[in-house]
Amino acid sequence: MKKSILSLLQTTVLDVQTVARGWVRHKRSGQNVFFITLNDGSTIKTLQVVADAGKFEEELKRVHTGACLEVHGKLIASQGAGQTVELIAETLTILGEASPDNYPLQPKAHSMEFLRENAHLRSRTNTFSAVFRLRHALSYAIHKYFNDNGFYAWHSPIITASDAEGAGEMFQVTTLPIGNPPKDEQGAIDFKQDFFGKATNLTVSGQLEAELGAMGLGKVYTFGPTFRAENSNTTRHLAEFWMIEPEMAFYDIQDNMDLVEDFLRYLIKYALDNCADDLEFLNQRFMDEEKKKKKEEQSEMSLIEKLQFVVENQFERLTYTEAISILLNSNHHKKKKFQFEVKWGIDLQSEHERYLVEKHFKKPVILTNYPKAIKAFYMKQNEGEEAGKETVRAMDVLFPGIGEIVGGSQREEVYERLKARTDEMHITEELSWYLDTRRFGTAPHSGFGLGFERLVLFVTGMGNIRDVIPFPRTPLNAGF
Ligand code: ATP
Ligand code: MN
Repeated sequence: MKKSILSLLQTTVLDVQTVARGWVRHKRSGQNVFFITLNDGSTIKTLQVVADAGKFEEELKRVHTGACLEVHGKLIASQGAGQTVELIAETLTILGEASPDNYPLQPKAHSMEFLRENAHLRSRTNTFSAVFRLRHALSYAIHKYFNDNGFYAWHSPIITASDAEGAGEMFQVTTLPIGNPPKDEQGAIDFKQDFFGKATNLTVSGQLEAELGAMGLGKVYTFGPTFRAENSNTTRHLAEFWMIEPEMAFYDIQDNMDLVEDFLRYLIKYALDNCADDLEFLNQRFMDEEKKKKKEEQSEMSLIEKLQFVVENQFERLTYTEAISILLNSNHHKKKKFQFEVKWGIDLQSEHERYLVEKHFKKPVILTNYPKAIKAFYMKQNEGEEAGKETVRAMDVLFPGIGEIVGGSQREEVYERLKARTDEMHITEELSWYLDTRRFGTAPHSGFGLGFERLVLFVTGMGNIRDVIPFPRTPLNAGF
């Protein structure tokens, strides 16, 4: 295998011939030599190449930030400060040039907006390469956690004919000619003539299919793209995002909470243990960004302190009803500082969630037992509650700076009760396969959905969800 810069930097065998390949971050001249820093994405660190100014005069004229080089030479202990080894160039080949006249990335700070417009090149910056390495590490850790704990990866479909959330914010999938679709007798679009013989869409969640898997395999998880055509232009929403959805037979809501907490702490600890260089870089970036904010909005902790805090402290668990009473009794409410009304029955707004997490508890929070009216039809109903105050065994995990990072619940496993809900929504026929799990050998079960980009956002300390996925999809934005 070809050696990466990471392995060259870690080598203990010096004074041997070696080869390095990478992109130029920086070139500067010294006495009779040029120092070129190369990066190949294997680490945030760069390898210093020392090239004789006379010998490589012609090549050096063409070496600029962004150019790709292959350098053969000897790796020696570095004489300068800032690195342990350096490569003394014997041959220097320019694999690809980048001209300072038109290469967009120069060795200076670029704005996040500018880099989003140049998303095809931004993986070559320190910030984005660190973010994407962390994204990879977290993705690997997710598979590892589930594998080590007896879960099976379960690939739910991307094209579906059902709307799991009942939210209706879906991207249609069709091969019908959109300018002139076939019509039925009533004049409506005739989806019987469409590719699948019915209307289909991109999935908004793999949960319903994951439940089918859990009823045979016990513990499963999905990790795939999900699509929501919601027109919310926020720093927390993408139209295409990745979701992790474990589903477990025989788990009740308590087991579900224990799992989500253990899982999130494991992932964050994995990042701290395995991505120290990148996190150190992102920590510095986070602190620099915080300093630009107003004093009262600055984080009390550094990024690494925040991550350590989550690993070391238990999440606060409380019911929705208790959360509403905390909000109602808060000075914030008394001073009328909430924009949206607080009363039992509301869907909590981001400002309410953030108050609970950031001001009141100052730690991650798991909220349970939400009003039935604001949650999905498949959540298990609590018993013996007064009319109009019915709740379901939902659980949302709220994180500082993020708000909702996980939404989950114990599922309704009693056929009659679930059917009563699907009847109300006129989806019983369409979901007959889903209801079958409750007709044949039904079992208590639970699961949750973790938005992968929200996790990456938290761990990297980035401010906008568009900056933690290589090619973000948001309203009016599908470039690259
Ligand atoms: P929110 O209220 O924040 O819009 P939601 O309640 O619609 O989220 P769920 O349907 O519960 O979200 O989805 C499970 C998880 O998926 C959420 O907790 C969140 O982490 C993530 N998620 C949901 N919508 C998006 C989105 N548009 N972009 C990125 N992640 C999302
Ligand atoms: Mn939710």
